[in-house]
Amino acid sequence: MCNPQHRRDVGAYALGVLGAADTFRFDEHLEGCPLCAGGVVELSGVAAALGRYARLTPPGVAPLVRAGPGLVRRAVEVVAAARRRTRRRRLAVVAAAVVLAAGVSFAAPGGGRGSDRWTGADRGSGMTAVVTAGAREWGADVGLEVSGVPERAVCSLVAVGRDGDEETVATWSSAGPGEAPLRLNGGAALRPGAIARFEVRTTAGRRLRLTR
Ligand SMILES: [Zn+2]
Repeated sequence: MCNPQHRRDVGAYALGVLGAADTFRFDEHLEGCPLCAGGVVELSGVAAALGRYARLTPPGVAPLVRAGPGLVRRAVEVVAAARRRTRRRRLAVVAAAVVLAAGVSFAAPGGGRGSDRWTGADRGSGMTAVVTAGAREWGADVGLEVSGVPERAVCSLVAVGRDGDEETVATWSSAGPGEAPLRLNGGAALRPGAIARFEVRTTAGRRLRLTR
């Protein structure tokens, strides 16, 4: 059952500042709670932005922002405000997360002639992914096939443009070891030719780079 403490823990979990024991318990809760899983998906963009900021901060320079309860509270407030504005979209995101958590597969990656292809494999974990992207008037029709995500996590597929811009193409929940290969489709505003690479990122901090 979802309780108010779970709702409070979503932010800390998404930002990776929940303690190890609480993270373990929250992982278990996420498995059966689409509401909290949707919350983690919504906050994954904030977590990614903070991670990027941390990576860009040279060693020895004190960061302007530190992860902690105050930051988590503010991040959750920002997301809550955005959520009120885009309630319909949020429901779509949650619906997608629920469908994917239930293991529903979508059409095979949008392959066919004229599509670009990116692949990535992680020898350590055995995780692999293939992305195809076909040019459309509006950008790129993106298909993903991923297997071997080694832990239960909320995952996102991110397109990284040649100019360094990033776009989240799709998000889903991975059931962890033993999960069947997952296929899903998404869209990007970037044309395939403008995409330098893709990355699969998980809330467990894993990152798989896909190159052409
Ligand atoms: Zn919950």
